Amino acid sequence: IVEFNHVQKSYDGETLVVKDLNLHVERGEFLTLLGPSGSGKTTVLMMLAGFEVPTHGEILLNGTPINNVPPHKRGIGMVFQNYALFPHMTVAENLRFPLEVRKMSRADADKKVQRALDMVRLGNFGNRRPAQLSGGQQQRIAVARALVFDPELVLMDEPLGALDKNLREEMQFEIKHIHESLGVSVVYVTHDQSEALTMSNRIAVFEEGVIQQLAAPDQLYEEPRNAFVAYFIGENN
Ligand code: ATP
Repeated sequence: IVEFNHVQKSYDGETLVVKDLNLHVERGEFLTLLGPSGSGKTTVLMMLAGFEVPTHGEILLNGTPINNVPPHKRGIGMVFQNYALFPHMTVAENLRFPLEVRKMSRADADKKVQRALDMVRLGNFGNRRPAQLSGGQQQRIAVARALVFDPELVLMDEPLGALDKNLREEMQFEIKHIHESLGVSVVYVTHDQSEALTMSNRIAVFEEGVIQQLAAPDQLYEEPRNAFVAYFIGENN
């Protein structure tokens, strides 16, 4: 569904934070970008979302070059750790917003909003304001908002980073369940090895703007290609 061809990114015209990235995201897969802080994961996601432009190279979505396509025209759902809900709107209004932007009728939009809320098991929370929700509930609503317009691709950047351990594990399970039941493609960013290992079909291990290894979790664990991958995957396990 996505192809990065020789993509590079520099913010200062000097240092490359992403170096000659070649990456295929398969349709329907859950692909995680895993690596230490500063290794370029978020930058890759931002380029795919359209908030950053590659310095060099091309990104294709369904075979079409998208370097010059603005974010809202890419049809990609997004969940970020700090991607806050609009505080002055109810939950339902927050979810309806991306549908209104797409000029969907009110009746169709309401159906989609309810379906998305049910999917994250907050079907009765449409009339609340974000401030009346727990952190975990707000993050579930952010997931629902990313899914409400039926995107074929969803990007998630450390969506569970602010949650405590128990809630994080519960949400990992829920996100995985949603991924499997919808068949949506997910590109997920985390620096948490165990999160990556439990959730992903494949993991790309980043170090300083380079993918050191791209493989299924068991293969990474059993056959790390080099010392960095072995060390990083083994950490905390
Ligand atoms: P983290 O998990 O800490 O977000 P990351 O792996 O996602 O790390 P990036 O956020 O992509 O890494 O950052 C890669 C490098 O690019 C870092 O050195 C960072 O300081 C730099 N960088 C990121 N965004 C910008 C920006 N908007 N302007 C300038 N430099 C940036």
